[in-house]
Amino acid sequence: MEKKVAVITGGSRGIGRAIALRLAQEKMDIAIIYSGNETAAQETCDEIKKQEVKTASYRCNVADYAQSKETVSQILKDFGKIDVLVNNAGITKDGLIFTMKEADYDAVMDINLKGAFHMIKHCYSHFLKRKSGNIVNISSVVGLTGNAGQANYSASKAGLIGLTKSAAKELASRKICCNAIAPGFIKTEMTGALTQEQQKAISGQIPMGEYGNPEDIAELVAFLTSGKADYITGEVIRVDGGMAM
Ligand code: NAP
Repeated sequence: MEKKVAVITGGSRGIGRAIALRLAQEKMDIAIIYSGNETAAQETCDEIKKQEVKTASYRCNVADYAQSKETVSQILKDFGKIDVLVNNAGITKDGLIFTMKEADYDAVMDINLKGAFHMIKHCYSHFLKRKSGNIVNISSVVGLTGNAGQANYSASKAGLIGLTKSAAKELASRKICCNAIAPGFIKTEMTGALTQEQQKAISGQIPMGEYGNPEDIAELVAFLTSGKADYITGEVIRVDGGMAM
């Protein structure tokens, strides 16, 4: 069977890294996009290579329309095609609305939401021409529930759900799927930045009583892109230890 090519934004660290490694286990060739941490990107590529698949990393700010367009073109030149797009790159800049700076609102929306729009837009005609493609957007439970102190982040993640359903409706007739995953609290550097006290309080809100692991998300991405889930589109799947039920 022909090898699939997967593009994972924010594939250098955390959840994106786990997704990249898991899809490499499925023998997909892997292109990862990162924003600045060269060392982490290189280390992840070295780990991916152990699966004997092709891999490369691309430094690109997904919030930048031209840069993300150029990067998709370069990936198509290097890999020949794209089968799977995982929009995972994301940041937080938390604060109450009262004190939140406009720049912090914009930065989070530009990377988390507009970045995914850019990537989908730049892959769109390629997917249409090939009548195949699979998009997975990494949203968040707070996109479903909201969260005090995360108005920008929650809005970006709720927006991703609207983007997912719209893309799914536009692309379904070509058998191109677009789904979203809404992780709860997962052990990564993003949540590692919270204080011990905040982490303890959050664990208390999780029915399963503990944080999830990046691999919990990666496993679902592997299923959604395996070819065994091709009748699932426009769906939002929580992986959150019961947090938002
Ligand atoms: P993380 O450990 O902080 O990693 C973030 C990744 O995104 C890194 O690879 C980073 O690249 C990349 N990135 C950041 N800004 C970028 C930009 N402008 N352009 C391209 N790449 C960029 O984050 P994580 O915890 O794994 O989270 C991954 C995704 O899951 C995010 O969308 C996040 O919102 C979502 N999520 C996380 C949790 C959680 O509990 N951790 C829960 C729900 C949803 P560099 O390495 O170069 O910085």
